[in-house]
Order: sequence, then structure tokens, then C-alpha cells
Amino acid sequence: MSKYALNCIGVLTSGGDAPGMNAAIRAVTRAAIYNNIRVKAIFRGYQGLISREIQEFNTQDVSNIIHHGGTILKTARCEEFRTAEGRQKAYDTMVSEGIDALVVIGGDGTFTGARIFAQEFNVPIVGIPGTIDNDLYGTDSTIGYDTALNTIVECVDKIRDTATSHERLFFVEVMGRGAGFLALNSAIAAGAEAAIIPERETSVAQLDELILNGFRKSKNSSIVIVAEGGGGAQAMAGRIHAQYPEYDIRVSILGHLQRGGSPSAFDRILASRMGVAAIEALLDEQRSIMIGIVNDEIVNVPFTKAIKYDKQMSDSVINVSQILSI
Ligand code: ATP
Repeated sequence: MSKYALNCIGVLTSGGDAPGMNAAIRAVTRAAIYNNIRVKAIFRGYQGLISREIQEFNTQDVSNIIHHGGTILKTARCEEFRTAEGRQKAYDTMVSEGIDALVVIGGDGTFTGARIFAQEFNVPIVGIPGTIDNDLYGTDSTIGYDTALNTIVECVDKIRDTATSHERLFFVEVMGRGAGFLALNSAIAAGAEAAIIPERETSVAQLDELILNGFRKSKNSSIVIVAEGGGGAQAMAGRIHAQYPEYDIRVSILGHLQRGGSPSAFDRILASRMGVAAIEALLDEQRSIMIGIVNDEIVNVPFTKAIKYDKQMSDSVINVSQILSI
């Protein structure tokens, strides 16, 4: 048992929602109760901690949620938590509610706020990575990424049917402002001709090569996946249209549908493992860490590292995409 008091934990989801967050909430709740720790569910992320939107959870409160997308706790972006006054209010809530530690489920921003809060008030906090972008350093996968990837592949498969029938060149925009993991891996999985990702400027030059060698010669269909942060599909299509006005070019922006839907088995299992690990980490007196998974083993990653470092795109995966798109 932990040396510091761990009678009650608070759990919240923050930042963008991701499929599998509910599975994580369920795992955190049940693992805590299993260890005789009470659970207070905090609604609307840090906002709910400030304005005290809190409800005690028992095991039944997380029944029948593992298969649902989104988050039953709701999520929010909270400007007030960026201020010292806001964080003071959040701490006051923790004290008055008797919450000894927090489990926060979210992304980079959520952990940045958690790190500052933990430092200011000496609060034990453990993070669980929940974001479809998979852009967090220190973990092979984030909760929601696998589901979003599968959703994109399903959409691109459908787009290919019309692309092929009409001999069109399609630019499909997927989420990922700073990271191209969704774009690159969905391009491989859907057999797209190219992926434009923010990590590689050269991928734009390779697009010309694709047009010259592929689409122009065979006038077959082509699909190019563009990460949001890779320049945007509309801009890319405009550029190619100006150069090759004879081509039938279309743009499809997948948008928010990439976030929704029932989580994949992979994400449910990942979230369940991470939720249990978060409680075990708190019992083990770990604090200011993110739970990660590396080579199928659970790891504890200090917030400082998870926030500071960029997750590297694997050269070998980029290579696979290029070899297979000839
Ligand atoms: P996603 O990757 O899905 O966007 P995220 O966790 O990175 O998720 P953000 O909106 O960046 O999402 O951050 C979530 C919340 O964390 C913010 O609304 C804010 O309340 C808090 N936060 C972010 N950065 C800071 C900071 N520097 N100081 C205090 N709180 C912060």
C-alpha cells in the first residue's frame, strides 16, 4: 500500500475525444475500487475540476460503456486551467472533495497542464494517452489511434471504388496537425499511391513524380492521403490542378468522423491495460508520469519526456510506403 494517503482518486478526460476513452475510464474505476480506492468522476476535463462537476462512481457506473466511442465524462478545452487562479480553484476542489490523486486521460496539452498543476500543489497525477494522432513520445500507441486508422481505411476503400470508376485523382485529407502517423499508415493499409506528411517535406516533391510516372501514363485512379499538417488536401489539389488542368481531381476531407465509432478490440485492450497500470503506478507512488506501451510492455514515462520529445516517424515505414506505391 502507498505511503501517502490514497483513499480517493479523481478521473477526467481532456482535450480531443478519442475512441477507447470510455474503456480507460472503466478500467481506472474498476482497478481503483478493486484496490479499495474510491473514485470521483470529474466531468468536462479541467473545467469540471474548477467548477466542481463531480460524481462518485461505483463499478456499475462504468457498465456497458467499453464499446462506446467518445467519453461519458465529456471533454473540454479549459482556458482557466492555464491560469494560476484557475489551478488554485481546481486544487481547492480536490481538497474539499477529498481527492488524493488524479488520473488524466488526454494528449500533450493535458499532460502539460497536469505537470504544472502537480508541481505547484504536490499532487500525484498519472496520465493515460488518449488521442487519435498517436503523436506522444514514449508509447508505441495511444488510445484511439487504431480505431481512427481503421475508420480511415474503410473510408478510403470506398473512395477508391469511385476513383477507379471515374479515373480520378483523389486527395483525401486525414487528421494529424503535427504528426503524419494516421496519414502514412492509412496510406499503406489502403494501398494509396502517396502520403503527404508534415514530417517529410520531400513527400511533396514525390507527388510530382507520382503524377508523372503513375497517373499521367496510365490515367488510372490514384489516391493521395494528406495529413492536415502536411499542407491540406485542398491546397495540394489546387497546386496539381494548376499544373495538370486536364485531370479529374477531387478532394475528400474526412473530418470529425475519424474520431467517432466503437473502439477497436486493440484500443479496448490497450485502454484496459493502461487504466489498470495507472492505478498500480499510483499505488507504487509514481507521480507525474504517463503510462505508455512499448513492445507490448507497459512503461512509465515522465511527463517531462512525453511532452518535450517528438515521437519519431519510422524511416522503415516510410520506405515501405514508397516501395509499394510504384
Ligand atoms: P489532443 O492531442 O487531442 O488535442 P490535448 O490534451 O493535447 O489533446 P489540449 O487542448 O492541447 O488537448 O489541452 C487540453 C487542456 O489541457 C487545455 O484545454 C488546458 O486546460 C490544459 N492545458 C494545456 N496546456 C496547458 C498549459 N500550458 N498550462 C495549463 N494547462 C494547460
